[in-house]
Amino acid sequence: MKIIMLGAPGAGKGTQAKKIADKFNIPHISTGDIFRANLKEGTELGLKAKEYMDKGELVPDGLTCDLVMDRIAKDDAKNGFVLDGFPRTIPQAEALTEALKKIGQAMDIAINVDVPDENIVERMGGRRACVGCGATYHVVTVPPKTEGKCDRCGAELILRDDDKPETVKKRLAVYHEQTQPLIDYYEGQGILKTVDGTLPPESVEEAVFALLK
Ligand code: AMP
Repeated sequence: MKIIMLGAPGAGKGTQAKKIADKFNIPHISTGDIFRANLKEGTELGLKAKEYMDKGELVPDGLTCDLVMDRIAKDDAKNGFVLDGFPRTIPQAEALTEALKKIGQAMDIAINVDVPDENIVERMGGRRACVGCGATYHVVTVPPKTEGKCDRCGAELILRDDDKPETVKKRLAVYHEQTQPLIDYYEGQGILKTVDGTLPPESVEEAVFALLK
């Protein structure tokens, strides 16, 4: 099963993508996570991506597409994968369609986790990320057992630069301008499904799994 998770930043698509990956035993491919891991390791890709990420802008398509095409060609992605945060622009979606077409394949489903902007701004302000392992929490909905400390590795939890209110507003504007058109793109391909992302995470999960039956 080859799945795309669509939705605004902070809509909860990452949480759902992880659940899908666990249940179907397929890789969870998050471009944001890949960029952050590269940044932590100080690679050239990571440093380049940071220039855009900190401003709430998108990393250029060429850089992003190469990375994803290499990743989905790996052995562990043979039986499918779940894409989280990619594609984010029409050219990225077209590159993905073309790359799969060449090997006689296509995406199976694009799931849009729909959440209005007001809810997003509220949610992102409460988001906390671990400086050690990257795990994410929310001060209200997914709090750590000890305030400010990661449950998994004990490292400090911070508000990521790209989750700060000014950056969130910019990211939402970028989302509406560049990523939202993908909803029509996948509708046109006949594989779009939408779930209500304002529901509690367990209900969103239920709706998502119902689509994948
Ligand atoms: P995320 O964790 O998915 O919200 O991604 C964090 C940041 O990484 C985004 O705000 C972008 O700067 C960058 N990024 C992630 N995925 C992509 C993509 N598919 N295309 C361009 N930039 C991306």
